[in-house]
Amino acid sequence: MSTDNMTNQESSTKRKKIQKIGVFTSGGDAPGMNAAVRAVTRAAIAHKLKVVGIRRGYQGMIEGDFINLKSTDVSGIMHQGGTILKTARSKEFRTPEGREKAYQQLKKAEIDAVVVIGGDGSFTGALVFSQDYDIPFVGIPGTIDNDIYGTDYTIGYDTALNTVVEAVDKIKDTARSHGRIFFVEVMGREAGLLALSSGIACGAEAILIPESSDNGSSLNRFLAKGYKDKETSGIVMVAEGEEAGGAMKIAEQVRKDHPDLDVRVSILGHIQRGGNPSAQDRIAATKMGVAAVDALLDDQKSIMIGLMNNKIVHVPFNKAIKLNHSIDEDLIDIQKVLLTNQ
Ligand code: ATP
Repeated sequence: MSTDNMTNQESSTKRKKIQKIGVFTSGGDAPGMNAAVRAVTRAAIAHKLKVVGIRRGYQGMIEGDFINLKSTDVSGIMHQGGTILKTARSKEFRTPEGREKAYQQLKKAEIDAVVVIGGDGSFTGALVFSQDYDIPFVGIPGTIDNDIYGTDYTIGYDTALNTVVEAVDKIKDTARSHGRIFFVEVMGREAGLLALSSGIACGAEAILIPESSDNGSSLNRFLAKGYKDKETSGIVMVAEGEEAGGAMKIAEQVRKDHPDLDVRVSILGHIQRGGNPSAQDRIAATKMGVAAVDALLDDQKSIMIGLMNNKIVHVPFNKAIKLNHSIDEDLIDIQKVLLTNQ
């Protein structure tokens, strides 16, 4: 990217600084993380760099849980969900003492630069670390929520969306056979995009998400009109962070208010994180992995690699962390139109 304005000599001088990079996955796992690890490893090796896999996120960094990665070590992992490097949440890294230990381990292993694959918490950790230490970090967004500012896309979202759609299609079969209303809860403590998109893809009758103030009325419209008039089944998608407190609580209230309805709840839970990554997740992870190595070689630090309009962008960590990724209002409007026409 930024090499466009440099002479080849300037570029190769810069490129000599880094000889060994570390790569790790952190926070919640997301399908496609392995494809990113593979791309980072292979791109780095193509640039004649050595690569070290840091296992178990920041905790493994503190403990020096490192493995050398060769090209063959990342063969056959592209299609696997989860992360071969494992992931963890580390309380110790939140302390200055923990970060000092991590720094000493990185120095001891002669790691010059690091690629972190995770969510905004993982990028916050990298930013805090970089305020005290001189090892550059570049991030790749990996989270099924797709809620990070500065990128249209995070690794894992597409696979999770397809997993939810497949599960809800099955629930619909039984809902229709029995004339039941199912409240289906999907992941998203603070972000409703997964619930909103899957609800649209499944033709849900109502969608309840943290970003909308209209949840109660859209549900009531469906219960009062959509359901009663049609005397049929229904799917209500609920993001786990929805303000009323999740699918269980909402269903309980609906049972009280409408004792005549046959109300069921299905919480999809951790199946949403697993499974073989979709082609889209594999491709996005690969693009971002290659771009992360390029960015480090171009002397970039404390940035996240993003995809905007299918093009690689660099987003400073402090923006990616602090600014809100607003939900696609068009999707909310589309859902309202469809409900109004019931
Ligand atoms: P997900 O979106 O799946 O939750 P995440 O990357 O946001 O992924 P977090 O658990 O929030 O996951 O963060 C991952 C790790 O980053 C934490 O366990 C911690 O070690 C480190 N981290 C997060 N915030 C900070 C911070 N303020 N200071 C130092 N380290 C931090």
